Amino acid sequence: MNGVQFPTQLLINGQLVTGEGDHEDVLNPSTGEVLCKVPEASLEQVQAAVASAEAAFNAWARTSPKDRSNMMLKLADAIEARGEEFARLESLNCGKPYLAALNDEIPAVADVFRFFAGAVRNLTGPVAGEYLSGHTSMIRRDPLGVIASIAPWNYPLMMAAWKIGPAIATGNTVVIKPSEQTPLTTLRLGQLMAEIFPQGVVNVVTGRGESVGAPLIAQPQVRMVSLTGDVSTGQKILEIAGKSLKRTHLELGGKAPVIVFNDADLEEVVAGIRTFGYYNAGQDCTAACRIYAGKGIYEKLVADLSSAVSSIKYGEQEDAGVEMGPLISERQRNRVASFVERAAQQSHVEITAGGKVGGARGFFYEPTVVAGALQNDEIVRREVFGPVVSVTRFDDEADAVKWANDSDYGLASSVWTKDVSKAMNVASQLQYGCTWVNTHFMLTTEMPHGGMKKSGYGKDMSIYALEDYTCVRHVMIKL
Ligand code: NAD
Repeated sequence: MNGVQFPTQLLINGQLVTGEGDHEDVLNPSTGEVLCKVPEASLEQVQAAVASAEAAFNAWARTSPKDRSNMMLKLADAIEARGEEFARLESLNCGKPYLAALNDEIPAVADVFRFFAGAVRNLTGPVAGEYLSGHTSMIRRDPLGVIASIAPWNYPLMMAAWKIGPAIATGNTVVIKPSEQTPLTTLRLGQLMAEIFPQGVVNVVTGRGESVGAPLIAQPQVRMVSLTGDVSTGQKILEIAGKSLKRTHLELGGKAPVIVFNDADLEEVVAGIRTFGYYNAGQDCTAACRIYAGKGIYEKLVADLSSAVSSIKYGEQEDAGVEMGPLISERQRNRVASFVERAAQQSHVEITAGGKVGGARGFFYEPTVVAGALQNDEIVRREVFGPVVSVTRFDDEADAVKWANDSDYGLASSVWTKDVSKAMNVASQLQYGCTWVNTHFMLTTEMPHGGMKKSGYGKDMSIYALEDYTCVRHVMIKL
């Protein structure tokens, strides 16, 4: 396929090896064609990867922050130098527009490694001192050991960076399992890491959740499990991790409320939701998917948003001007379609844009607006994870805040108004890991990304991720 090489080998103890388990078809979601077959890791290979991470831990934990940092900077440079190759692999495997992968994701991935490379050299903490007379106390922040990282399919390389970056910066070693649907960029990253890091510091194993993820987490040498995935997967992982009291770091789903007050800049709101509700075909846990619009702006917002959304160009990775790709799989596309079908059966709901399967081939679904939805409708309550945005009318601010918070999820939210005190007042009441004002979706590596409620509790990016991947220790010296 266009001369693209598909990496299929696992990284275990510094060696690239062929998986000895079942083969998994890896698809191009734009066409439904098989790109390549990737063999899963066998149980023995999972155990070997964990053993190698454990063997590497002591020496790696004692490497200076400067040395770890230099290796991570090398990795960031290597990713950037191969940006087009990574973007092509990611876009083929996920169906993303190639230019979005190249311009949005690759620079952000390199930046994550650079940020953690710098941040780990600047950790701060409480002052050492004689808190008990005749004794000096100090705080240490030490690595935990072997981290098992389990990643989802929506941003495979970015999730690998979010997980590997803070873990190795602080001196942990890692075994990462990408999603069985999207392993390619993580396997390519494995090839680069094999050349830069000492053997065993990072290992990559592929395979399904049940056959590879579950045994990986269960290994006794694993000290912490980091998952980005579905709430139900988080629950399964907690059960396994709970048996041996492993630490967990969970980033689960989302259903982001977007509160639009009557005084908001309508053009900005429409442009914002057109972008932030449909980016990555809405397969984003922060997608702007649950709009609450004041009664004074509701009608105009639905009309303008529906016509803006109808103009989103969806198509294959390298189609001219393509803005949105397909869903990851036929199953996911059918799931999205069934949500919209059930919503459309309700008499108060109107599908004002999209609402149908799209494209001659592949797993496309039209960018869709579901207007008139009510708070208790399934489309407002459940995570669709597709290019579907619901719009609900509200009469007063208290209802908007109450409905926004009335959700199992708590990852991301936004408030749109010209009134700064209203924005601050509402932001202070929202039970979400992040609230944006007059924008949505924007991330920066210095700031944390993570949730509340069933969205989980792990923080990715920022200094807080370094805290999550380390343990605070007290050392006291008798004088
Ligand atoms: P998923 O939960 O099905 O799979 C995630 C990963 O978990 C995959 O690697 C999978 O193989 C693995 N897995 C599944 N069952 C397992 C088990 N029993 N033991 C161990 N590992 C197991 O999620 P997905 O469908 O790949 O991704 C979509 C979900 O991820 C959505 O719900 C989305 O909201 C969520 N997500 C959250 C964030 C966030 O930052 N909060 C980011 C991206 C995606």
